[in-house]
Amino acid sequence: MAESCIRNVVIVGGGTAGWMTAAALARTFGAQLAVRLVESSEIGTVGVGEATVPHLKLFNNLLQIDEIEFIRRTSATFKLGIQLNDWHHLGDSYIHGFGTTIGRGLGLLPFHQYWLKAARAGRAGPLGDYTVHTLAAPRGKFMSSASDVPRDSPLADIPYAYHMDTARYALFLREYAAARGVRRTEGKVAEVKLRPDDGFVESVVLEGGEVVAGDLFIDCSGFRGLLIEQALHTGYIEFKDWLPCDRAVVVRTESVGPPPPFTRANAQAAGWQWRIPLQHRTGNGHVYSSAYISDDEATATLLRNIQGRPLGEPFQLRFTAGMRRKLWNRNVVAIGLSGGFMEPLESTGIHLIQMGITRLLGLFPRDGFDPVLSERYNAQLKFDTERIRDFLILHYHATEREDTPFWQQCQHMSVPPSLQDNIDLFADSGRFFRNADELFAEISWVQVMIGQGIVPRSWHPLVDQVPETDLYRFVDDVARLMADCVEVMPSHQAFIDRHCAI
Ligand code: FAD
Repeated sequence: MAESCIRNVVIVGGGTAGWMTAAALARTFGAQLAVRLVESSEIGTVGVGEATVPHLKLFNNLLQIDEIEFIRRTSATFKLGIQLNDWHHLGDSYIHGFGTTIGRGLGLLPFHQYWLKAARAGRAGPLGDYTVHTLAAPRGKFMSSASDVPRDSPLADIPYAYHMDTARYALFLREYAAARGVRRTEGKVAEVKLRPDDGFVESVVLEGGEVVAGDLFIDCSGFRGLLIEQALHTGYIEFKDWLPCDRAVVVRTESVGPPPPFTRANAQAAGWQWRIPLQHRTGNGHVYSSAYISDDEATATLLRNIQGRPLGEPFQLRFTAGMRRKLWNRNVVAIGLSGGFMEPLESTGIHLIQMGITRLLGLFPRDGFDPVLSERYNAQLKFDTERIRDFLILHYHATEREDTPFWQQCQHMSVPPSLQDNIDLFADSGRFFRNADELFAEISWVQVMIGQGIVPRSWHPLVDQVPETDLYRFVDDVARLMADCVEVMPSHQAFIDRHCAI
């Protein structure tokens, strides 16, 4: 069997992206690849990004990381969803929960179709009454699947995500990768050398002169995009016409009370503020548009809306929503912030790192850099990114808020046709187009569409096959079943204390 000629992989950057990539390559390729990671503790990492989506569990499973050890090492808590406050109108609140099913369907259709008809007849409560996640989260309850739960119970396999200390996660993965042969080099990259004939990256040169050569380079250098942009000038596609926030101010606080099993996202006058509970502290950040609010005002808003004593000074970050024109350019693959950034409203940054890694593993080059691989990779990641982009825009655009110029702009902006088509389709009869490959499930779109006030005019005609008395009984039964399930769940804190306290 011919040996692969891609042997030496150089990762530049040791943030979440760099160490997730290093760990995954070490786990999957083992000694087949020589992986070297260069990072600079003087430059440091971005130092934010603590809420995830449920898919991180799959990544940890790939690495065969024990969940309890992961939770203890990263001081993590569990996350059933995101509570979105004041997004549709001031005083409004709903939860985007991670449930895979809202109750049980009847026949072919998803549950929300039956709910739409029952709700129109005044025979159903809010949509949130029909999923375990949205009922359990505000009550501070949590449990993961337990062996004594019957397989057909809604409690049998609850999807959930984590809130975690990502600096600790990177350290954990660093140890993991080192134990599997990844070589770490502390140093600052001062120069990127390109091959004169084809412009591929040949090596990076560290301050002090050490030359680190490789076949494939993974750019995990953060916003600066040291290889993909500064060396290869790949270009950037901006989303700022639709995602107007361009700054964040961040502060950590002491924990106050037991951690809720959800992320809070409170809309503000020119952006929104997050609260992410870890076991040992709480993360807070205010994401805002600098066109509508000054940095000082944004910081004052942040500090006005925290609980608990700050554990340091607030710090600021600037960004432009968007993505590189190519995430794989020549022999450089950009993963993490070097590849692009969309605000953390739905906690998708780490997920896009995971997708970058997974898709790279799927298309990993063997004999050289055939453009067919990079073109497929770029098309896949573009698709992943744009679908998340549309989902984020939905939160801003589908609002009745007119109380500040920021919200007026969001409400009146035109949105990408891919999103507008889905809004129109959903507004008609609760249907929409979704590709099986995309991150957010149908239930996520439904919860946010309804939560943001897009109430379909009608429902699927097959709902009318069910006699009305049966339909109402079915909807009531689902609500009762969900409420009964939540009743038996322990509190989130009790679950952590019992299974995974630090
Ligand atoms: P960084 O953390 O910036 O790491 C860059 C690395 O490159 C560092 O090790 C640095 O030392 C190294 N480096 C840079 N230049 C050089 C050089 N010249 N020589 C050597 N090394 C160099 N994601 C989520 O999933 N959930 C969230 O809740 C979330 N919240 C966020 C909130 C904000 C405000 C922001 C900005 C991002 C958020 N993210 C979130 C995204 C998440 O933070 C990032 O995806 C994640 O931290 C990955 O960062 P990174 O590793 O790409 O970059």
